[in-house]
Amino acid sequence: MKRPDDDAYEAGAVPIVRSAWVAGDVRAWPALKSDLDVDVAVVGAGVVGASVALHLAERGVRVALIEARQPGDGASGRNAGQVLPYLGKLVDRASWPDRGERLLDYFVQHRNIVFDLCERHGIDADAAPCGMVGAAYREYASMTKNVRYWRGLGYDVDVVDRGRLRELLGTDRYSFGVHWREGGRVNPHRFTNGMVDAAARSGALVFGDSPVESCMPAGRRWCVRTPHGGVTASTVVLCTNGHADNAFFPELAGTHYPLLACGVATTPLPKPLLDVIDPGRVVMSQYPLGLFPLVLDGMNRLISATIPAPGRANDAGRYFGYLLRYLNRTWPETRDHPIGLDAYWTGMTANSAPAYQAGSPRLYRVADGVFALLNFGAGGNVIGPMLGMNLAHALADDRHQDLLLPVQTPVSVASPGRFEWKIRHLMIPFARFIDRLGGLRI
Ligand SMILES: Cc1cc2nc3c(=O)[nH]c(=O)nc-3n(C[C@H](O)[C@H](O)[C@H](O)COP(=O)(O)OP(=O)(O)OC[C@H]3O[C@@H](n4cnc5c(N)ncnc54)[C@H](O)[C@@H]3O)c2cc1C
Repeated sequence: MKRPDDDAYEAGAVPIVRSAWVAGDVRAWPALKSDLDVDVAVVGAGVVGASVALHLAERGVRVALIEARQPGDGASGRNAGQVLPYLGKLVDRASWPDRGERLLDYFVQHRNIVFDLCERHGIDADAAPCGMVGAAYREYASMTKNVRYWRGLGYDVDVVDRGRLRELLGTDRYSFGVHWREGGRVNPHRFTNGMVDAAARSGALVFGDSPVESCMPAGRRWCVRTPHGGVTASTVVLCTNGHADNAFFPELAGTHYPLLACGVATTPLPKPLLDVIDPGRVVMSQYPLGLFPLVLDGMNRLISATIPAPGRANDAGRYFGYLLRYLNRTWPETRDHPIGLDAYWTGMTANSAPAYQAGSPRLYRVADGVFALLNFGAGGNVIGPMLGMNLAHALADDRHQDLLLPVQTPVSVASPGRFEWKIRHLMIPFARFIDRLGGLRI
């Protein structure tokens, strides 16, 4: 029988307090209860909207940040906390006017944006540039090629062998890997809220519990309405992730492939395991599929994320069980020391490509004066705030030629559900089975 929560798990919308990242001391923002006039209205306070608002406010632009629930309540408060220092495939980059070269330069230049923002604004988000390891059961030419590529761009990254992996990860199970002395971890809920606080200190008006219900032209400007108040602005920026449940500008809702993901956090590891698991204190992922990304956070909990099976997103025990069995296989010492389940939650990602962990964020011009910065997939913690900053600076300086993403018109993708079906029914269960066998030459 269905429990009341089952639909919420499946929609990636369980109460945010289920997320391991939520600590009690973040500020709750009041609802919008009047009519205001600003230069820019930003809708959605995840990592993207928070960054847009912060960087606009810093340039003296009058900005209102309007969030349906509270900042970080979407994917940004529900993710796995990895701060990825590199760009993924950006599959369509080749077809962009400048082949994405400016975006790449900007990314390299600002790859520490999460740590920089935390430092500059005094954001206490357990942000640690602890580096990352991608570990594999065999050698992959693609990993070596990737290392060469990013080293050429000035990155501190190396190919590592089984011996070095043992030192870094505390396991013999992997024979080949990449060690990034770049990137790391962050508590994404606190990071998002920290950016929002900083935006408010710079003059941004922030509203929580204010779902935007409509966005209508008001002369040459726009009026954004919430249940108890409205904001009139010259420019509106929508940072609503997939935009799926929004009735206004419905053309945006079909631009992405949704994919549900879930997060799991263990109780703090007992001391004997802390000496064994991840002694290098790096963030870890597995190559090629990243089935069990692992972040050891500042409270010594292991945080991981995966894709739940259809109709089973509510089953915390199942995904904790997968993680535990992986830990037992990878660090046999974990069999002798109890590890508990601290938190389990789900969240929704919006992907622009129908291939796992591929695709690139999108910048849409929905109407004159209305932009949407969406579809960051499963990797928005770094590029989200970065592109938010780029958009904010381009708007503040009225230099749209500085925008790094091509400005597109929203176009619905074909069969959006088929991607999720394939990943959840076939790909992830198959990959889990293979991992149990110790990997396959894929
Ligand atoms: C389980 C999981 C693990 C992940 N792991 C990682 C990781 O380790 N590293 C990484 O880089 N990325 C990761 N991601 C992806 C990352 O979380 C996202 O790419 C990123 O958070 C997207 O940010 P956003 O601001 O676009 O969206 P969101 O954080 O979803 O923000 C959108 C906001 O818009 C609000 N909104 C929507 N409609 C309205 C409306 N009508 N009115 C007002 N507000 C509205 C929502 O309430 C929400 O707060 C993961 C995602 C998930 C789900």
